[in-house]
Amino acid sequence: MTKTLILFSVMFGMSAQAGFHYTQEVKVIDPAHRYLRALSKHPELIVDHPTHLGYEVYGPNGLQAFLTKYKIKFVNVEPLATKRLLDNYPSAEDTVKKEQDLQKQYPSLITLIEIGKSVEGRSLMFARITAPATKGRALAARPEFKFIANMHGDEIVGRELMIKLIEDLASNYGKDQRITQILDNTQVYILPSMNPDGATHKVRYNAHGVDLNRSFPDFTTSDNVNDWHNREPEIQAVMKFQAQHNFKLSANFHGGSEVVNYPWDTDQKRHPLDSYLQQISLNYTRVVPYLWNSTEFKNGITNGYDWYEVDGGMQDWSYYWHKDIQLTIELSGTKWPDYSTVANYYQANRPGLLEYIEETQHTPTPKIRY
Ligand SMILES: [Zn+2]
Repeated sequence: MTKTLILFSVMFGMSAQAGFHYTQEVKVIDPAHRYLRALSKHPELIVDHPTHLGYEVYGPNGLQAFLTKYKIKFVNVEPLATKRLLDNYPSAEDTVKKEQDLQKQYPSLITLIEIGKSVEGRSLMFARITAPATKGRALAARPEFKFIANMHGDEIVGRELMIKLIEDLASNYGKDQRITQILDNTQVYILPSMNPDGATHKVRYNAHGVDLNRSFPDFTTSDNVNDWHNREPEIQAVMKFQAQHNFKLSANFHGGSEVVNYPWDTDQKRHPLDSYLQQISLNYTRVVPYLWNSTEFKNGITNGYDWYEVDGGMQDWSYYWHKDIQLTIELSGTKWPDYSTVANYYQANRPGLLEYIEETQHTPTPKIRY
């Protein structure tokens, strides 16, 4: 406890909210997670991806001296942006162009919706894929489903999987019975990249240096009003879009670990739909062997808070304010693996992605209030 209080009392004198202050990145060596809670509660630090060895910590200048002072072991992480051999991925612009090309190729199935622009003016482009209104279930009766990837710019696999999924769904409509069923009954919305600036610069943050998955309203913190004003443009765009729709089920994709994470992230209290959330998480991992056979997480799933607390995450915001059930899917232990491995990740995850979209037909309309 004393240690915790000391950690809380040390400030770097800068507010992370102001951006551009996460200049240092380390991996803390802490198998017993002795410092995990205190560090994750520190207002100027971000903790991510705990394992049986340790976890990532992001912070301002002075982070390493701070850890050294408290005799917390760590290793430096070489920023992705300085590494070589990473340029074989499509650019953020290529990604939007690919969405546009697919829309031109399948105009009766794909509609593009630009929900806003990033700090540096890059397009935030959703693709909506559903059967033509003349086919399948009446359009207004098809529930809405949503995938968002790449909100952390350096976690790139999800973005590529989303492009492959759009193409897979569109090209197999009317040919593959399962996919035809999905598109006849569901409106599938996919945002391949919520942080194209971060992806361009190969950093976690947006171009203001803000972590987009720590900056949504959070019912457990003082930032507990569902208001998009004074938030980052990428967050505003997602919040406004969400308010205009009635999504029943969704997921957001990350990298740096391999696990399906279900709510809550921010609260120790169990979610009112806890057993349902576990069931749909297991339905995903059961058909994705590398997740199911995880040595770190039983059957490749975890309650968010049990793993580590995240405040201001999109997942909890989505359910708390919009009753849109959202999972956080960590796809790859390596955040930016060689591009040649992306096809393997897609093939491995495809059964889980389809299973999860199909679940939209069964999602309960929660009656529980809390
Ligand atoms: Zn992430």
